[in-house]
Amino acid sequence: KKITIAIDGFSSTGKSTIAKLLAKKYNYIYVDTGAMYRAVTLFANKNNYVGVDFLRKENLVSQLPNISLQFKFNKDLGFAEMYLNGDNVEKEIRTLEVSQLVSKIAAISEVRKKLVAEQQLMGKDGGVVMDGRDIGTVVFPDADLKLFMTASADKRALRRYKELIERGDNVDYNDILFNVQERDRVDSTRKDSPLVKADDAIEIDNSDMGINEQFELICNLIDK
Ligand code: C5P
Repeated sequence: KKITIAIDGFSSTGKSTIAKLLAKKYNYIYVDTGAMYRAVTLFANKNNYVGVDFLRKENLVSQLPNISLQFKFNKDLGFAEMYLNGDNVEKEIRTLEVSQLVSKIAAISEVRKKLVAEQQLMGKDGGVVMDGRDIGTVVFPDADLKLFMTASADKRALRRYKELIERGDNVDYNDILFNVQERDRVDSTRKDSPLVKADDAIEIDNSDMGINEQFELICNLIDK
C-alpha cells in the first residue's frame, strides 16, 4: 500500500534529506512545502511587498492568484526543483535573505490557505512524503506515518552553515544560528497553524544521529 508520510519539525533538522531518501527508496513523490513558502516570499520580496522592517500584506494577498508554483523533477539531481511563474528559483529561494523573511510570509492566513490546498491536491493519492511544519497537524492529519524532527540549535545552524558555504554563499555562522532560532520562534507562535508536534507523531532527536541511522530507523517504521 502506498502510504502518506508527514515529516514536520524545526528548521534545518534534516527533514528534506530524509524525505528525499525515502521518496527514492519507496518510489514516492516528495513535496518540500518549505520551498513553496520560500517561493511566495521570493515573489513578495521582488515586488517589494516585504522587507526586514515592513510587510505590505494586502498587496501580496491580492497578487496570490497570480503566483503559480510548480515542482519539476530534475533527473540529474534526483529531486524536484521549485518553479515560480515558470522560472527555476531553486537556488534563489535558499538564500539567507529569503530565510530571514519567510516566517513573516508563512504567518499570513491567505498564503497558508492557498499552499495547503495545493499540497493536499499533490498528496491526494498517497505515495507521498511531505515535509514542513504543519503536515501532520493540518495538511494531512490522517497521515499514515508522522515524524517530528528535532535537534539542538547549534547542530542545526552548523549543518545549514556548511550547506550555504558549500554552495558559495558568503554567510556568518552567528547569523545562521540567529535565523534558525528566530524562525522556530515565529513559526511556533503564529496564530494560524503554529509549528507543534502532532499528538501521534514520532519524535526523532537527531542531534547525535547520522543520516544512515535515521534512515534505517524510519524505514523500519514504514516496513513494519
Ligand atoms: O522547510 P524550510 O526551512 O525551507 O521552511 C521555510 C519556512 O517556511 C519555515 O521557517 C516556515 O516559516 C515556513 N513553512 C511553514 N509551513 C510549512 C513549511 C514551511 O510555515 N509546511
